[in-house]
Amino acid sequence: MHCLWCNSQIIQEVNWENLFILAKPKNLCQPCEEELEVLHGERCRRCSRISEDEVCLDCKWWDEQASRDTITSNFSVFAYNEMMQDMIAKWKYRGDYHLGNAFKSYFTQSFHEAFSYLDKDAIAVPVPLSNERLLERGFNQAKMLADFLPIETKEVITRVHTEKQSKKTRRERIGTKNPFEITKSINKSVILVDDIYTTGTTLRHAGALLHEHGCRKVYAYTLIRG
Ligand SMILES: [Zn+2]
Ligand SMILES: [Zn+2]
Repeated sequence: MHCLWCNSQIIQEVNWENLFILAKPKNLCQPCEEELEVLHGERCRRCSRISEDEVCLDCKWWDEQASRDTITSNFSVFAYNEMMQDMIAKWKYRGDYHLGNAFKSYFTQSFHEAFSYLDKDAIAVPVPLSNERLLERGFNQAKMLADFLPIETKEVITRVHTEKQSKKTRRERIGTKNPFEITKSINKSVILVDDIYTTGTTLRHAGALLHEHGCRKVYAYTLIRG
């Protein structure tokens, strides 16, 4: 087994702790794994940002907006540190599909911890890419993440508007019109899955559509809190 990031060989240590549980094969070597920063400790219960306040300033701002907040909460696994930025660049922008598997065990394990209260029939909905971008990249990273989860994945949202979010200011992003369309109503709880939560605007656009089409509760689950 070789590390998906640095390609060095992974030697799995056998000790009393993992001898009987037959440790899951690892996709990252120990030094690479340690470069990733798993979020823990006190965080905003709404958006997962590390915060001593129960609800952070960002989320209070969302609360004050006239429109109903469409996302009940977001949970993220990792911080957006340097290692993560490099990994994301290689995975999604340079099309290294397999690298995404490095996140699999974290993403599934945190799911069980963070969403233990969830209805058993909840549906995972990946945030879509435009067709254009999908062709360019070859895969949708959000779909890959959603497929890691032990619940059903349904691609019911499509992207109609293709402008790059990253080139806009915060104000511009929040002011944009809904870039999504929905192809099918879901009357169950939904977990929207994406790679990164930044302002939360994208997810709220998707959440609004889901609510308008019969969805009871919309949660977000993201790999990274930007
Ligand atoms: Zn490595
Ligand atoms: Zn927050």
